[in-house]
Amino acid sequence: MDGHLIKELQKRRTFGIISHPDAGKTTLTEKLLLFGGAIQMAGAVKAKRAGRYATSDWMTIEKERGISVTTSVMKFTYNGFEVNLLDTPGHQDFSEDTYRVLTAVDSALMVIDSAKGVEPQTEKLMEVCRMRNTPIMTFINKLDRDGMAPLDILADIEDKLQIECAPLSWPIGMGKRFRGVYNRHQNQLYLFTPGGETRHQEGILITDLADPRLDEMLDSQADELREDVELLEGAANPFELEAYLKGSQTPVFFGSAINNFGVRELLDAFVEMAPSPQARPTTTRLVDPQETAFSGFAFKIQANMDPAHRDRIAFVRICSGKFTRGMKVLQTRIGKQVTLSNATIFMAQDRTHVEEAYPGDIIGIHNHGTIGIGDTFCEKEALSFTGIPNFAPDHFRRVQLNNPLKAKQLLKGLTQLAEEGAVQFFRPLTGNSYILGAVGVLQFDVTMARLKSEYGVDARYEPVSFAAARWVTSEDRKQLAHFEKEKYASLAHDSHGKLTYLASSLWRLDNAMEEWPAIRFHKTRELI
Ligand code: GDP
Repeated sequence: MDGHLIKELQKRRTFGIISHPDAGKTTLTEKLLLFGGAIQMAGAVKAKRAGRYATSDWMTIEKERGISVTTSVMKFTYNGFEVNLLDTPGHQDFSEDTYRVLTAVDSALMVIDSAKGVEPQTEKLMEVCRMRNTPIMTFINKLDRDGMAPLDILADIEDKLQIECAPLSWPIGMGKRFRGVYNRHQNQLYLFTPGGETRHQEGILITDLADPRLDEMLDSQADELREDVELLEGAANPFELEAYLKGSQTPVFFGSAINNFGVRELLDAFVEMAPSPQARPTTTRLVDPQETAFSGFAFKIQANMDPAHRDRIAFVRICSGKFTRGMKVLQTRIGKQVTLSNATIFMAQDRTHVEEAYPGDIIGIHNHGTIGIGDTFCEKEALSFTGIPNFAPDHFRRVQLNNPLKAKQLLKGLTQLAEEGAVQFFRPLTGNSYILGAVGVLQFDVTMARLKSEYGVDARYEPVSFAAARWVTSEDRKQLAHFEKEKYASLAHDSHGKLTYLASSLWRLDNAMEEWPAIRFHKTRELI
C-alpha cells in the first residue's frame, strides 16, 4: 500500500451537477468556486454563459479554447479536500457529453428550482446516474421566491426520480417570508439576509426547538418551524449514509444560490459525505483506486474548431495510481505505448507547475484524432474500462452529399466523429444514406462544420421522421431473424455494425416492445 496515494485519494471528490436549464447550476457553481478560492474561475463560468445560445458564438468560444476547457473541469480545494467539478453542459450544448461526464464522476449534485420541481432534463440525467447507482445530493434552490411547498417538492422527487429523500435542512417560509433554514443534521439555525453574495453567516446553535430565542428571531414562524420539524421526525426518512452511497436515498438541502445562502452547508456536507474515488469495472476485473499502477479512461473529446489546429483534447479520468508528466502508458484499444508528455492537468490555481495527478483527477491529453471515447490508458496490464456507453439519440437528420464524389470522405469523417462521440450515425438496411443521431441538436451543426473543415465534405441535412433509436438484441435467434424480416424498413446498423431499431414515434416504439417480448430494446450501448 502506498500511504501517500491513499491520503491523496481520501481527500478527492469528483462530481457533476445534474439540473434542468435555469435551475441555477451556473450560479451555484460560481458560489462553490468562491468558497474554494478559485475566484478567477467564476468569471470563466460567466464567460461561457454569455455565448451558449448561438452556434457561431459557441464556435468562437471553442476557438478560444482556454475558456471552454477550464470550465469543462473546475478544480478547487476546500477544507483540505481536492474537489473536481465536471461540467455537464446544458441548454443547446446538451449532448452525449453531458451524459458521459456522469460516467466519470463518483457522485452528483442535483439542483432543483423550488417553483418547478423535477424537470425533464433532470429526469434524463438521473437515468444515467441510476445506471451506476451514483450517490446524489440534492439542493432545492430559489427559496427566496415563492415556490412549491417543500413537502410537495420532496414528493415530486420521490415520485418522478424513484429515490428516497432525507431532508437534512428545512426551510422557514419562502419568498417574501423566507427567514432561513434549520439544519436538522447540525441542529443549527441559519438566518437569511438577502444579497449575501460572498459573505457567509455563521449558524446559531439551537439544541432544543423549544428555545425561546427562536420566537424572538422568527416571531410566528417559530411555531411553524416547530410543527414542520415535528412532522418531519415522524414522516420523513431518517438519513442513512449507506443508502446515500448506494444511490437509493438523497440528502436534501434548501437554499438560494444567488444569495449564497445554504451553499456553505451544502459544500460542508458534500465533502464530508460524498464518496472518494471508487473502484471501477474493466472487461477483466475491478480496478481499485489504491492500486499503484496508473490507469484511466477518456470520457470526453473536445475538438478545436479552428481548422489550422486539428488537435483535440481527450479528457481522461484517472482511476488508479499516480500520473506523472511524461509517463509512458499503453493505449489498450490500439495496443500502442504513448507518452503523456503534453497532458494538461486541471488545477484551479496554477496549472503549469503541477506534475502529478491522482485518481479522481482529470487530465487533458492533446492528440490528432488517435483517441476515441472510452479508450483506456494503463501502465502495466492491458485493461479496458467498461460502462462508458453510447446513449440512444433523440434527434435525427439525414445527410445528403452535395458533391457525390466525396462519399469516401463522408464515411471517414462520420466514422471518426462517431468514435470521438461527437455524433452517432446509422445506415438503414434499405437504401444507402446516412442517418445522424444526436442527444442535443447543436451536435448536428458542430458535425456539419467539422465535416466541412476537417474532411472537405460538402453536404446538407434533410429532415427525417424518426423519434427514437434502440439497439436490439435477443437470445432467441429465430425471433430476432423474424423481427428483422418484419421490421426491415425500420432497421439500421450503427457505426459499429450493431443492429438498431429506428422508430418514427415513441408510441410505435412502445408498440414494437409490446409486440416483440423476446427482443430486447436497449437505450444504451456499451462502447467496449
Ligand atoms: P443554469 O441554467 O442552471 O446554469 O441556471 P443559472 O445559474 O444561469 O440561473 C438561472 C436564473 O436563475 C438566473 O437568472 C439566476 O440569476 C437565477 N437564480 C439562480 N439562483 C437563484 C436563486 O437562488 N434565487 C433566485 N430568485 N434566482 C436565482
